[in-house]
Amino acid sequence: MILDTSLSIALKDELGRYNIGNINLFKIEEANNIFKLMKIKLKNKNTVMVSLKCPLCEKWHSFNYCINDMINQELIVCGCKTLGTPVLFIGENDRVSDRVKQYNRVIKETYAIF
Ligand SMILES: [Zn+2]
Repeated sequence: MILDTSLSIALKDELGRYNIGNINLFKIEEANNIFKLMKIKLKNKNTVMVSLKCPLCEKWHSFNYCINDMINQELIVCGCKTLGTPVLFIGENDRVSDRVKQYNRVIKETYAIF
C-alpha cells in the first residue's frame, strides 16, 4: 500500500486570509521554512507539536497532534485558544484548498460591502 503523505497547511494571516503551504508528512518540519509565524516540531515518532503566533490575539498557541490522526483525519482545524476561531488547517491538499477557498471568498465579500 502506498500511503499518500502529502499535506497542506493553511495559516491565517493578520488580514484574515489563509496562506497555503504544501509539505510532506515525513518532512513536516520544512513547514517552518514556509511559515514564519508557525513552528512545527517532532516530539517523538508519533507526535508533532504545532506552535503558532495567533493572527487574532497575537499570543502563541501550541497544539499536539498524533501523526496517525494527520493521515486518517480529513482535516485538522486549530483554533485560537482565546476566541475559538479557526486559524490553521492541516490535511489533504484538496480538502485544505477547498476550505481556504470558502473562507477567502467570504472575506472578499465582506470587503466588498464596505
Ligand atoms: Zn489566539
